[in-house]
Amino acid sequence: MINITLLGSTGSIGTSTLDVIRRHPERFRLFALAANSSVDTLYEQLLEFRPAFAVLVDAKAAASLRSRVAAAGLATEVLDGEAALEMLVSHPDVDAVMAAIVGAAGLRSAWAAAAAGKRVMLANKESLVVAGQLFMDAVAASGAVLLPVDSEHNAVFQCLPTQGRQGVRRILLTASGGPFRTHAIEQLSDITPEQACAHPNWQMGPKISVDSATMMNKGLEVIEAHWLFNAAPDDIQVVVHPQSIVHSMVEYIDGSVLAQMGNPDMRTPIAYALDWPNRIESGVEPLDLFTIGRLDFEAPDPARFPCLGHAYTAIRSGGTAPAILNAANEVAVQAFLDRRIPFLAIPELIGRCMERIASEQPESIDHLLDVDRRARAESEQIIPELV
Ligand code: NAD
Ligand code: MG
Repeated sequence: MINITLLGSTGSIGTSTLDVIRRHPERFRLFALAANSSVDTLYEQLLEFRPAFAVLVDAKAAASLRSRVAAAGLATEVLDGEAALEMLVSHPDVDAVMAAIVGAAGLRSAWAAAAAGKRVMLANKESLVVAGQLFMDAVAASGAVLLPVDSEHNAVFQCLPTQGRQGVRRILLTASGGPFRTHAIEQLSDITPEQACAHPNWQMGPKISVDSATMMNKGLEVIEAHWLFNAAPDDIQVVVHPQSIVHSMVEYIDGSVLAQMGNPDMRTPIAYALDWPNRIESGVEPLDLFTIGRLDFEAPDPARFPCLGHAYTAIRSGGTAPAILNAANEVAVQAFLDRRIPFLAIPELIGRCMERIASEQPESIDHLLDVDRRARAESEQIIPELV
C-alpha cells in the first residue's frame, strides 16, 4: 500500500490523479488531500476517499469545510495554512506526494517533500523553474525519488536509459502550438481568455491553458527539462506537433529517436508516476493510429511565440532569472484572465520585467520567494504601461 499526500486535489491534475487512484484501492491510500479554497469539491473528495487529513490553505474556507466534516461525522482532520502542507508532505506515514498546486505557490510544499526524501510526483513545473538547482540539490541530499508528471518530461523519462545518459544526444520536447498556431498574427491582438483557454487537445487548468497559448508553457518546460535531465539548453529542441500524440522524444548518437506516444490524457503520465516502475491501468483509451492517420512536426515560430525566447534567455542567464520570468508570467497571465491586459501584452510584460530586475545567485528558498515577490510587484507596475 502506497500512502499519498495529494496537493492540488481539486484541480485538473488533482482530479485526474484521484481517477487513477480510484481504480486501485488495494494499491494506493490517500493520507491527505489539499487545495486552496474549493470547499464543495474537497468535501465530496473527503466523502469518497476518507483521508486522515485535509487542508484548505484559505482559513475561512477551511473553517467552513471543518464544520461540514464535523456535521457528517467524518474522521478527517481539517487544517489550514501553508505550514500544514509542509507538515503533511513530510509526515512519516507518507510514502509519496503528488505536487499539483499551480504556480510558485506550490514551491514550498514540493520542496519540503523533496527535502523529506519522499517519492515526489512533480506536476508543479514552476517549482523547478523557480528553484531548479536548490530543488535538485534537495532531491540528491535526501535520496528522494523525483518522478516527472508533466507529459513531455514523463515521456522523456520513459525514453531515457534506466541508468545514466550514455549515448543521449538531444531531448526533443513536443508542443501542440496551442489554439493560435495558425492564426494570422494580427488576429492575436483581440484574443479573449475564453479563446485562450480552449486548448485543441488537452483539458487543463486556466493558467497552464494560457501558458500553452503563448507557448510559455513550453518555455517553462525547457527549463524544467534542463534541471530534471541535466541537459544544456542547446540540447533541448522544441518541436511543434499539433496532434499531441508523441509526448516527447530522446535522440541518441546512433541515429535512434525514441518517442513515447499515447492519447493526450494526463492519466497516463500520472499512472506511470504513481506506480513506477510498474505499469497500471489508468482508464485512458487505447491509441487508435488509424483514426489519427498522420503525425505532423514543424519548427516553432519565434515571432509568434516570443515567450519561448524569453525562457531560453532566462535559463542561459541563470541565477534568479527563471524565477523572475515565472513571476512576471504568473502576473501577466492573471492580468490577462482578469481582462486587464490584452493577450499580446503577456510576452511584453515578461520581457520588460526581466530587463528591470537583475539576476542574483539563488541562496535559499526564502531568497527565491523574495525575488518572486519583487518580480510580482515590478510586474504590477508595468501593467499600466501596457494598456
Ligand atoms: P488547476 O488550476 O486546475 O488546479 C490547481 C490546484 O492547486 C487546485 O487544487 C487549487 O486549489 C490548488 N491551489 C491553487 N493555488 C493554491 C495555493 N496558493 N495553495 C494551495 N493550493 C493551491 O491547475 P492544473 O492544471 O491542475 O495544474 C497544476 C500544476 O500541474 C501546474 O503547475 C501545471 O503547470 C501542472 N501541469 C498541469 C497539466 C494539466 O494537464 N492540467 C499538465 C502538465 C502540468
Ligand atoms: Mg506539459
